[in-house]
Formats: sequence, structure tokens, C-alpha cells
Amino acid sequence: MEKIILLLFILLIPFSFASSQYKNVGIAKYAVLEVKNDNTPLRDNDNENANRLAHLFKNAVLFADKENKDYYRVELNEKLYGFINKKFVDVQAIIPEKRVDNINKITFKETKDNFDVKIETDSQSAFIVEEEGNNLNFTLYDNHFDPIDTKIVNKTDNFAFSEKISNELEINFLNNQKLFGYDVVHFSKGYIFTIKKIPKINKKKPLKNITVVVDPGHGGAEAGACAFGLEEKNINLKISKLLKRELEKRGAKVYLTRKKDVKTGLYDRVQFSKEKNADILLSIHQNSLANPKDIVNKHGVGTYYYHNQSKPLAQAIQNNLIKATNFKDDKVNHASFALTRPTNAISVLIECGYIIRKEEAQKLADKNFQKIVARAIVKGCEDYLRDL
Ligand SMILES: [Zn+2]
Repeated sequence: MEKIILLLFILLIPFSFASSQYKNVGIAKYAVLEVKNDNTPLRDNDNENANRLAHLFKNAVLFADKENKDYYRVELNEKLYGFINKKFVDVQAIIPEKRVDNINKITFKETKDNFDVKIETDSQSAFIVEEEGNNLNFTLYDNHFDPIDTKIVNKTDNFAFSEKISNELEINFLNNQKLFGYDVVHFSKGYIFTIKKIPKINKKKPLKNITVVVDPGHGGAEAGACAFGLEEKNINLKISKLLKRELEKRGAKVYLTRKKDVKTGLYDRVQFSKEKNADILLSIHQNSLANPKDIVNKHGVGTYYYHNQSKPLAQAIQNNLIKATNFKDDKVNHASFALTRPTNAISVLIECGYIIRKEEAQKLADKNFQKIVARAIVKGCEDYLRDL
């Protein structure tokens, strides 16, 4: 009953924002939102194409100060707002002031493979992870951090932390190495942040003991791009299998997200890469045209990344593919795809060529050419690893 009254209350508050003019809620009032599922996007504007500021965990608590038809606006700090689709949250209450939780304990640990930071809090809230050169910034909002009250255990020189603005903890992971994957997981009373160390790279055999997950795009009923009697999913699988063999010859541990022509969910692929503790995630695709007008300009091979840590790998693979295939350079591109967004592994997506262009399709369907493509991707991985 109480919930219904609260819901009515929030519906009656005349909120509007973003494209139209902003309206204040009046006296300070916040809707307390609870996130329903893991991997919920918090965006920088109120539409589905807006950038993702963060992915939130189930049960994370957010404080919305405004709403429109589909979105809540979440106040992160005085200058920064996030937007969350209403379907992803439950409204728990309306409160006059934001609740601020305590950070109780921060533990730093260095293991053989990782640096770990465990942050123990009273509840979960929004956080944002940003890469800044070789450093990572982890900011936790609506959590009070008091260096005197907070127990800090085993601090090492690899981290710095500060309370940037009140109710906001920022931990800077000061890496004197390049970034080689990181991840945040949550437990009932906080977070564990893991940064992977770069393993010792054997310059002659750089792929030795490196774990690579190869992801043949599409599969089953989802054929991907089709042209000239060819289906993208089949070419993706053939190149991926050749790629697996070539990587294994050079000492890598390789796993395919699908070995057969079966439908495989995007997030199942991402999860699989996490389970295998991949160092490198390669998603293999063949391109088509999103816009028929591009038929004149769009050719060749393109490689995609999302996080900066993955850009050097994308560039190294692209360089080798251009050299080996003689295809037009469709560039290294920044793009937000399910398979470029993971941070736990260095993640890139490769569009080996345009299946809808006859001269490229014929080559991509040819086994010898597929081998050339696979070897070029392997050389790209080796160049990248040698350079770490
Ligand atoms: Zn595709």
C-alpha cells in the first residue's frame, strides 16, 4: 500500500527534461530506484543510442531527481547526470534527501596475475570506470569515504584514492604497465575491482600461454550478412577455426564461442570469454552496408574497438590484414558493440571484408584466402603482445 502511494506521488510530480526544458522537483526530493538486473546500462542521455556511462549490477540503488516518459535522471554529482530506462528499475521510495552510504573497508591485494581492490560498503550504488592513459579511475557515487573511519588494509604503491567531491570515492589505479584487462564484480556488501597484470611475454613466441577466445559472429537462424549464395555465419566459422589452429600452433590457449552452426546469444559469448579468463577476445565478422549509399565508398577490412586499452591490438591486426589481403583500408573504428565492450579481455571485432561486394565475397569464400586472413590476425596479435 505504501508503495502505491509513493508511486502515485512520483507520477504526480511534473518532471520533464532533456529535449524539453528542465523542471525542478521543487524542494529536494529523490526517487529511490533499485536496479532489477545485472549489466543494466546507465547512459549519458535519455535515449537508447546514448553513450553508456556504466553498467550497473542488480540491486544497485540510484537516486533520481527528475523523470520523463521513459527515463529517470540520476544525479551522480553536481555536474554529472546519468539516465536510466524506467523498465530497468523499481521505485522503492520517495525521500527528501539523498541517502549516503558508508565505505567501511578497503583492502588491496597483489596476486600472481592481478591487482585486486575490495571495497566494502553498506549497499550498492552507481559507479563509473574510466581509462586515462595507463591509469584507471574508479568512482563510486553516494558513498561517504572517510579516510579516518574507513579501514584501509595492505595498501601498496599501485593505488591512490581520494574523496573528490563529497559522497564520492575515487580510486586511481596507477599502472606503470599498459592496461591488459580489468573488471568489477559485486558481492552483497561491495565490490571487487581486478586489474590484470601483463604476463611475461616471450618475444620469439609472444602467444605462448596467452588465452584467446575466438568468436565466430552469428550462427543458427541468424545468418548475418548474405550475398551471392554466401552466408556470413559460415565464413565467420571457417575463418575462426583456421584462426584457432594458427594461434594454437604458436602456443596460445584458444576457445571458440561456437564450434558449430548454432545460435549463440551475444551475452553468452561475453560470459564465455569471462569464464575462460580470456586475455584477448576476437570477434570475426564479414561486413555489409548499413546504408546502400555507401556502395561506392565502403570496401575492405575494418577493425573495431571500444575501450582505449584495445586500440593497439585493433591497429596491429588492421595493419597486418591490409598488408596480407590488399583490401581497401576501412580503418580502425571506435564502436560500441557487445563484443567490443568487455573490459576483462583486450576485445576487438574484425570485419574481414564486405560480403556484399562480389570481388571481396569471392575471396572471403576461398579457403586459401581465409588462411591468409587468419594468419594476418595472428601476426597482429603477436605484434601487439611484443609491444606491451
Ligand atoms: Zn556480422
